[in-house]
Amino acid sequence: MKRKMKKKGISIGGLIAAALFQAVLLTGCGETAPQRLSSVDMAMGTIVTQTLYVLPGSEEGSAGETASGGGAGESAADEETDRILQLLADMEEQELSWRIPESEIAGINAQAQEAEAAVPLSASMQQLLSQIWQVSEDSGGALDVTVGKLSRLWNLDELTKAAEEISRTQLPTAQQIEDALADTGYDRVQFSAGSISLPAGMQLDLGAVGKGIACDRISEYLQSQSRITGAVVAVGGSVVTYGQKPDGTPWTVAIMHPREEGSYLGTLELTGEYYISTSGDYERYILVDGVRYHHILDPATGYPARSGLCSVTIVCDNGLLADALSTACFVLGAEQGLSLAERWGAEALLVEEDGRLYMTAGMEEIFTAR
Ligand code: ADP
Ligand code: MG
Repeated sequence: MKRKMKKKGISIGGLIAAALFQAVLLTGCGETAPQRLSSVDMAMGTIVTQTLYVLPGSEEGSAGETASGGGAGESAADEETDRILQLLADMEEQELSWRIPESEIAGINAQAQEAEAAVPLSASMQQLLSQIWQVSEDSGGALDVTVGKLSRLWNLDELTKAAEEISRTQLPTAQQIEDALADTGYDRVQFSAGSISLPAGMQLDLGAVGKGIACDRISEYLQSQSRITGAVVAVGGSVVTYGQKPDGTPWTVAIMHPREEGSYLGTLELTGEYYISTSGDYERYILVDGVRYHHILDPATGYPARSGLCSVTIVCDNGLLADALSTACFVLGAEQGLSLAERWGAEALLVEEDGRLYMTAGMEEIFTAR
């Protein structure tokens, strides 16, 4: 991780080299300059923003139009970005969503609904769950994807659909929370030879890691497409940067201000492939009697986490890990969150409600406050 991080001083040299390289490219073979494609769509219940740099030429893996020429360029852009959207839709439908009955996670949940049962896992789900459980164990359960019952109880989308403001009586009751907590606990799940068994009543919810996993899959796809020379794709609060910009400048990723809507806290400058994930209490929340109820739950209490933090951004070399750590650090608070991120070789920016910022050393090199 540290090895890959570029110091600002060094990247100026890199910049000049890249600019020279680019100049050679432009004069030597101008027609091969990558074309910039961009799109904004909805997928996985969130906004997906794509910027792709694509070389003109015949496409891999599909019979499509080339990216050259006015009208044709436009449809090629749609096609390229649509393929990434399709990848996300397939992943959600077949693997991750607890809402879609055909998905692998929904299948596991359905079996655990009534009684404990060993459910076979696909190789890829087994790998995902094993990574998730490592973070759960190392964070003392701050990340716990067995919160399915709790997260359904704290269904903020439902709560906020009814009205802008709700009364205390519409919130889950202490008894409901206690009951849901009784069906929660990553340490009560058993894995054995390719199968998982959940205690009866436990429900999985991969919401805390889904968008990060999506970034990993996007990156795999980008690597398989030699025409794509650079990309930055945001799936909600999870972002992947890949390859290079044609002008050699670093990717710039803005971090939302957690308390000033529509403005930025600052920006990250990254060169190459990184995964950036932000968890905050400012996107899905409801205020009741001045208290903010948001969607990041503390599995120790069953209530929205109150760690003093309002936003956590993680930068590392794996999408699932970035997303898992951003949620776990949010629950743990600044001090423990910082050391969790450091243990995993990730960079972290943690923002407390009073505006105080905490950063790992590597984050200080890539973050610029606005
Ligand atoms: P977002 O989904 O906005 O990117 P997060 O990555 O922090 O935010 O994930 C929050 C989602 O994960 C919640 O909507 C819920 O489904 C689930 N969740 C909430 N708290 C936890 C937790 N402590 N551990 C695991 N999953 C959680
Ligand atoms: Mg997360």
